[in-house]
Amino acid sequence: MFSPPPINTGIEVSGDYSLPIVFLSIIIASLASFTALSLNERILKNSFFHRNIWLILASIAMGFGIWSMHFVGMSALSLPFMMHYDYLLTCLSTIPSIIASFLAFYIVNQKKRSFASYLLAGIFMGIGISAMHYTGMASMVMDAYYVYNPWIFTSSILIAISVSFTAIYIFSRQQRYAKNSYVKTLTSVILGLAVASMHYTGMAGTTFYLPQQHVVTPEHHMNMTLLITGVTIGITLLLCLLQLSSLVDRYVDFRVSHIDILTKLPNRRSFEKALNNGGFYRSLAVWNLHNLEKLNNDHGYHFGDEVIRYVANDLRQLNLPLSDLYRIDGNRLALLLQGKDRLAELQKAMKLLSAKWTQPVLIQEKEILLQGVCAISSIDDHQSPKRLYTESLAVLSSLHIQYQNEVICFDPLIHTYSFEQEILNSIDQAMKKDDLFLVYQPKVNAGTHKIVGLEALIRWNHPVHGFLSPGVFIPILEQSHQISDVTNWVINKVCYQIKDWEEQNLPIYQIAINIPGEYVTSPILLKTLKKTLNKYTVDPRYIELEITETSVMESAESSMRAINTFREAGFSVALDDFGTGISSLSNLRQMPISTLKIDKSFVDEVPISEKDSAILEAIIALGHSLNLNVVIEGVETKNQVDFLSSTRSLLSLQGYYFAKPMIPEELMEWIKGNS
Ligand code: C2E
Ligand code: CA
Ligand code: CA
Repeated sequence: MFSPPPINTGIEVSGDYSLPIVFLSIIIASLASFTALSLNERILKNSFFHRNIWLILASIAMGFGIWSMHFVGMSALSLPFMMHYDYLLTCLSTIPSIIASFLAFYIVNQKKRSFASYLLAGIFMGIGISAMHYTGMASMVMDAYYVYNPWIFTSSILIAISVSFTAIYIFSRQQRYAKNSYVKTLTSVILGLAVASMHYTGMAGTTFYLPQQHVVTPEHHMNMTLLITGVTIGITLLLCLLQLSSLVDRYVDFRVSHIDILTKLPNRRSFEKALNNGGFYRSLAVWNLHNLEKLNNDHGYHFGDEVIRYVANDLRQLNLPLSDLYRIDGNRLALLLQGKDRLAELQKAMKLLSAKWTQPVLIQEKEILLQGVCAISSIDDHQSPKRLYTESLAVLSSLHIQYQNEVICFDPLIHTYSFEQEILNSIDQAMKKDDLFLVYQPKVNAGTHKIVGLEALIRWNHPVHGFLSPGVFIPILEQSHQISDVTNWVINKVCYQIKDWEEQNLPIYQIAINIPGEYVTSPILLKTLKKTLNKYTVDPRYIELEITETSVMESAESSMRAINTFREAGFSVALDDFGTGISSLSNLRQMPISTLKIDKSFVDEVPISEKDSAILEAIIALGHSLNLNVVIEGVETKNQVDFLSSTRSLLSLQGYYFAKPMIPEELMEWIKGNS
């Protein structure tokens, strides 16, 4: 294979390349690479299908792409003798390229990757491309025979490896930093060139010899036009199909996470997005169905579903211009309206519906009465659309609702007052009884997933309002300066809990306590902490104080002093919700904190958004460069965990993916299960 024939047995012949077909071959290789990379992306994202399916499809796209490039590339060369392909070997020659692509993609999609992984992936890919090429060469049946120049032969393989490595490295490393489609296109072209350059270098090192007495014919034996057209159409169809599958998957993923399956309406996630994005929404109507649970109990869930569909349909049929309907909860639908001064129009439409629903409605041949209430709110141009929802909620939590399909507009005097007053009047009682209690959410190490600490979070089982979120009652207590009593109560409960676990010989972890902004700088806080720790003989290293970034920024100097005294007394201090305030970086450097807690909003779109992923990585690096422990909160998905585990292991994670906040008994069970 490497040595030329004796002079008198063969004559050297050479062929001519058709440039347009050479280009076509490069385009095919690049398109195949593009498809393979698109399919690779699905591996990392929330996909409807298992990641291995995408891995296999990507390998097929790449493998067939390499193969087609080879055959089109071969057809670009017209040689002066008869030639055809051995069908079996031709088919078998796809196998090395598919297997090599699979191995390379498998490696680069691992959680933990290093430079060596990219190198190994490049080696596999390069060898696969070369193996396909040389198997393809062996499948040629002809009168002539050929000899490889050993140097060029070796170079062709090295070229395939190095260019594949470059493409894989760029794709995997730079993906997060640049606009994705550019990187993908560039990488596809490089990967396409890796395939093509290997082929044409390999061909440059191949010399064909004809037997002396052979009659020279200027044509291939096979119909090359037919071959090129066939291969091109075949591979184009295959690539289109695969691209389509990745698009369909993206669409399914979007539908599943943003659309309510029952009503086909956008769900709560879409609703929150719409409010957060600002937009032109100026008024909102929220319908709360009160008797849905009863209807479910009486007639079954299927009937309950029909009721929701019925209500959604009535709202949809209002056809209000510039309006968007959402299902934001099991029994709540929301109608957002764009444009100012539309409150009266919205009210009128809702009253029409309310009049209709006051009469019995016929659903699945049953006459039932809908019992609900509609809360309406509106804002002016200067207010944030988020306010629309809080105001509607305030209406819905009003004690005076009778669920007779009233349409109630938010009134700051009525709605805020009654609810707030309720909260303030009942908090003392709640602390005495067990209506107020603590739950604990674990924080785990990003690398080992072992528990490293806990955060204490407050819960209120209110006698009238049911379970109240701290997001609702903490701000009310803060505004009326009643939060310090509750904080003291939390400190007491936490210390008691640590002591209790210690006495039961259970493992003890550091517990983080949320300290509200205004209490941080109060001298009473440190006194209370010391007194309570003394009472239960708890070491301060078991306590971390979480202080929000915004509260620190409000009174930077005095907060800084307070934090210093906490650290001197042996407590850890965490800066909570980092990224939501606008703390100057120079302040951060001077702040004597021990931990940085990065706000959930930074992790929400990770790893799907390259920009957010890059920002998150930069903040983590910033925290580590300041020698701080870094905690990411609100980690919900496996993809987020994979991304965060692959970046750094000196990191703690907290979120529903690992565990929701739990009462002590549940927590101990969880710890047992987790170890
Ligand atoms: P925070 O300090 O930022 O607490 C984190 C919140 O995120 C908690 O909500 C927690 O349950 C929630 N969370 C944790 N993992 C995930 C996740 O994966 N996904 C989502 N969507 N949420 C997650 P929670 O318990 O409702 O508390 C809300 C806020 O109320 C807290 O925010 C804190 O500011 C305040 N708070 C809670 N307990 C206390 C307390 O004892 N004292 C004070 N002053 N404030 C408290
Ligand atoms: Ca916190
Ligand atoms: Ca937080």
